[in-house]
Order: sequence, then C-alpha cells, then structure tokens
Amino acid sequence: MIVAASANGKIGIKAAIQILQNGGTAVDAVEAGVRLVEANPDDHTVGYGGFPNLLGEVELDASIMNGRTLESGAVGAVKGYLHAISLARKVMETLPHVLLVGAGAERFAAEMGFARQDLLTEEARAIWANRLQKDMPPNVFAHLWEQKNLRDWVRLATDPERAKGTVNFIAQDKNGDIACGVSTSGWAWKYPGRLGDTPVIGAGNYADNRYGAVACTGMGEMAIRGATAHSVVFYMKMGLPLEEAGARAMNDLNDLDGRFLSVMNIIALDKDGRPAGFTSSPGRTYIYQTADMTQPVETARTYVPIHSRWE
Ligand code: ASP
Repeated sequence: MIVAASANGKIGIKAAIQILQNGGTAVDAVEAGVRLVEANPDDHTVGYGGFPNLLGEVELDASIMNGRTLESGAVGAVKGYLHAISLARKVMETLPHVLLVGAGAERFAAEMGFARQDLLTEEARAIWANRLQKDMPPNVFAHLWEQKNLRDWVRLATDPERAKGTVNFIAQDKNGDIACGVSTSGWAWKYPGRLGDTPVIGAGNYADNRYGAVACTGMGEMAIRGATAHSVVFYMKMGLPLEEAGARAMNDLNDLDGRFLSVMNIIALDKDGRPAGFTSSPGRTYIYQTADMTQPVETARTYVPIHSRWE
C-alpha cells in the first residue's frame, strides 16, 4: 500500500495512508488527501485561497479516476464549492457522465447537498488586485466586467512569475487497486471559463490497474496537447519501465512545436506500487509514504528538460 503526491500534498498524505491502513480504498485515500489541500488557505493553487481568474472569481477544476474500472469523474470551472474532488467523485459514482462544468456542475453540487462557500480569501483578492493594477489603467480595472477585450489581459496569466500549481494524489490499496485524484484553481488570472489539464482525463490524470497511474501539474495546455498522463501509462502498456515511460512522455512535450511551451511535472506509480516523479524544473520534489512508514519521504524528481517558449 502506498500514497504518492505532489509536494503540496504533504498536509493530506497522512490522512490518505491512514485510510489505506484502515482498509479503505484507493479512491477513498486520494479523495481524503486532496480535500485537506483544498481546505488549506495557504495553498494559492488549490481550493480555498486559490488565486482567481481575471475577473476575480475562483474557478476550480478536479478529477478522480478508479484504475480498477477506469470509471472517472471530473468537474471544471466550478465556483463556490470547496471540495471539487468530492464533486468529481459524485459525478463518477452517481451520474452516467464523466465531466460537468460551470453552472451545471454547481447545480449538481447543490443537489448533492454540498455547502456553498466563498473561496476567495482577502489575501488572494489583494494579490490579484495588486497584480492587475500594476499593468492596467485604473479605469480598466474598475470596469473589468464590461471590457470588450478581456482577452488582451490574458497575458497576465502567462507572466512567468504567476503562481501555478495543482495537487496530485495517487494511491494503491490492499487489493492492489490504484486511483488518482487531482484538484486545482488553475492558472492565476486565467481567462474565465478556461479549463486546464486537471479535469481532462488522460491529460492531467489517468489510472489503470494493469499498468499504473499518472498525474500532472504545470502548464495544463501542454498536458492536454500531449495527452500526457495517458501517454505515460501507454508507454508502460507498451512495456517500458516507469522511469523510461515518464521520460518519453516528457520528451514528447519537448518535441511540441508552436507557442506556449513551459513547465511540466509528473508523478506516477507503476502497477507494482513503485513511485516516480519527473519535472522540467530542476530541484522539484514529490512525496510518498508506504503503509509501513511513519512519515512521508520527500524525494527528487527526475529532471527532463523542456524548452520554454511563450510566443
Ligand atoms: N496544471 C494546472 C493548470 O494548467 C496548473 C499547474 O499545475 O500549474 O491548470
């Protein structure tokens, strides 16, 4: 039994491993781990306290996948509900659908008894306002909702200094079943309605008991273009060991032509419960904990360079 997570999952990994130790499923474990990160106001990339879109609204994306059945649930651009991961699980378990977005996802959350909550903290609001006001004339900032060309300001979302991140959890339970859960508030200052890789099964999340599971953080548009989570699993299906499979998928991103190439980070678990991490930013880590460990270990990801290009 093992749980692996992105480094910002530290706050949730103990709860996740305890669930496995108490006989819970991999799906239970990844949901519990992600929920604790979603509730952490200090994490500006996930859930409560997440940075908002250009208009100042926090929009959440999440997905969960059961590697035993390949059943999946996802939500995108959800406003006003904290636990996007639990909503994604409800989609998976109670609807004939995989992905709900926006108003429909919010309606479903209300039907399922989720409590509405304002997710924009004072701190996140102040950072958003300061960042926009640094570049925008005061009359533009004061009338953001009426802007005819909000798209002109989406360049603030590609500011290399902007906050970015997602939480990734992968677990394997006592039955050998694997699950993967991911949640994010997406790019800070994104265009309203933008979905990243997180709610797109095969891009930011994929789990298949027969081969392993993979989750991504980084520039979601690249993971969508490269179907990155599924690529790693596919390379394992074709017989590559995990380390090679991850490096191959990262190299596929480096081969992409066109605009908007940036960072990618991957965590993965093979079917035998071996974890690995990959990054295009040297020095990044991930964490994992097995059932017989008392603490998680934080370990280096394999560095695979990806050239960066915005224009
Ligand atoms: N992958 C996320 C997204 O594109 C953001 C990140 O992990 O940095 O929304």
